Amino acid sequence: MRPGRRRALTASVRAVTEVRNWARNQTCSPAVIERPTSTDQVAAVVAAAHGAGRRVKAIGAGHSFTGAAMTDGVSVSLDRLDEVLAVDGDLVRVRAGITLRALSERLHDQGLALPNLGDIDVQSLAGATATATHGTGRALGNLATTIVGLELVDGRGDVHRVDLDTDPDTLKTLAVGVGGFGIVTEVTLRAVPSFDLHAHEVVEPLADVLGRWSEFIAGADHAEFFFFPGDDRALTKRNRRTDEPPRPPSKAAYVRDKYLFENVAFGLACAVGRRVPSLVPRITGAFAAAASERDLIDRSDRVFASPRRVRFVEMEYGIPVDAVPEAVERVQALIRSLHHPVLLPIEVRCSAADDLPLSTAYGRDSGWIAVHQYPGMPFEHYFDTVERIMDDYGGRPHWGKLHGQTADVLRERYPRWDDAMALRDRFDPDRTFANTYLERVFG
Ligand SMILES: Cc1cc2nc3c(=O)[nH]c(=O)nc-3n(C[C@H](O)[C@H](O)[C@H](O)COP(=O)(O)OP(=O)(O)OC[C@H]3O[C@@H](n4cnc5c(N)ncnc54)[C@H](O)[C@@H]3O)c2cc1C
Repeated sequence: MRPGRRRALTASVRAVTEVRNWARNQTCSPAVIERPTSTDQVAAVVAAAHGAGRRVKAIGAGHSFTGAAMTDGVSVSLDRLDEVLAVDGDLVRVRAGITLRALSERLHDQGLALPNLGDIDVQSLAGATATATHGTGRALGNLATTIVGLELVDGRGDVHRVDLDTDPDTLKTLAVGVGGFGIVTEVTLRAVPSFDLHAHEVVEPLADVLGRWSEFIAGADHAEFFFFPGDDRALTKRNRRTDEPPRPPSKAAYVRDKYLFENVAFGLACAVGRRVPSLVPRITGAFAAAASERDLIDRSDRVFASPRRVRFVEMEYGIPVDAVPEAVERVQALIRSLHHPVLLPIEVRCSAADDLPLSTAYGRDSGWIAVHQYPGMPFEHYFDTVERIMDDYGGRPHWGKLHGQTADVLRERYPRWDDAMALRDRFDPDRTFANTYLERVFG
C-alpha cells in the first residue's frame, strides 16, 4: 500500500434536496453530491470532508434496500468513473463506478465475461461487490470473489493500492467492505472466457424440488427457483454452460415474457392486489399457473439479468446450504399463518463458500432465501418473523437488503469479524464513512 497525492478538488458540486434508492424506501438529503472524474478528485473530496469533520458516503446505482448508501453529509457518486483501463489476459482493471451491464459489454468485446451475475445488471461494480452481491451456482462465489486488486481512498483522503499477491488479507477484507473502509476507485478482477448458457425454466411441484434440493443444485451450473407464497408450485431455472449454437429468444418472445408478463401484467395485478387484498391468493395463483416453459441458449449476461420494473422491498438471508429445504418449509408455514397477504414470490438460490471475511458466504456453502413484498403492503412482521427462522440457522443477512441485525449479533456470525473491524480502524479511524446503517451493523 502506498499513500497517494491529493490534488485540488475540481469535481462538480451541486446542492441537492433528496436522494432515494430504487425501492424508494430509503431517502436522504446530502449536503452536497460530488461526481468526481478521477481518483485524485475522490481523494480531495474525502480529505476536505475529513478536515471539515463531515461524513462521506459513496453511492453506486442506489439499488440497496438498506440505508447503506444514504448520508446527510457528502454523497459521492462514481458514475463518471466508468472506464475499462486495461485488459491483460483474463485480468481486467476498471474504474469502480462502471455498471455491471457496461462491464459485461466491454468484457464481451474482449471475449471475456463475469463468471456469474445476479438477477439484474444495473448496479455499479463497486456497490455490488461492497455488499457481496451474488447470483446462483453451487460452485461459484459472489461477485467480490473475482477481485484481485483494488484502489481505495481511505477516511483521510489517502489513496491505497492493494492486491492479492502482496497483501491478500487486506484485499479480501476490503473486497466486501459495505462502504465502511473507503471509497473504491478502481477494481482489478479475474474474468473468464465468454460463454453461452442453455436456460431451461419449468414449473414443478415445490415439494419435489425441496426433496431433491442437493441434486437440483448439483444438476446445473446455476440453479434456482421461485415460488409464490402459499402456492405448492416452483418455477425452476436451470442454466447450464454450453457450446451448442445459440438459440436466443425472438424479440417478440422476450418482450412478451420479460416485459409484458413479468413486468407490465404483474405490475398491474400487484396494484390491484394492494387495493383489494382478498384477491391476492387468486392473483398469485394465476401467475404461478401462467408461468410457461422457456428453453433457450444465449450469451451468459443476457440470460442472467432481466428487467425489473415492478418495485418491491426485499430481505435475503444466507444459511448453510443443506438447511434450505427445512427453512423454506418453515417460511411457507409462516406465510400461511400471516394475517396479511404477500404478493411477491420467494426466491431460493445457492453459492459457494469463500474466504472474504465480511462476505455473507464466508467459510460456508450457502443457500439463499429471499422474501419480497409489494410497496405499500405490510412487510415488517413477515420479514421479522422470517428473520427469526433464519436466526436458527446462523443466517447472515445480505448487506444490501432489509434486515434488523446489529453488530453484536453479526459479530457472532462472522468468524473474522474482529480482524475486519481492526482493519476498519486503520482505514477509517475517524469514521468519515459512517452513516446510520453502518453504525447499526458495524457498531
Ligand atoms: C431489483 C433488484 C435486484 C437485485 N438482485 C440482486 C441479486 O440478484 N443478487 C444480489 O446479491 N443482490 C441483488 N440486489 C441487491 C444489489 O445488488 C445490492 O444492494 C448492491 O449493493 C447494489 O449496488 P449499487 O451499485 O446500487 O450500490 P448502492 O446501493 O448504491 O451502494 C451499496 C453499498 O456500496 C457502497 N459503495 C458504493 N460505491 C462504492 C465505492 N465506490 N466504494 C466503496 N463503497 C461503495 C455504498 O456506500 C453502500 O454501502 C438487487 C437489488 C435490486 C433493487
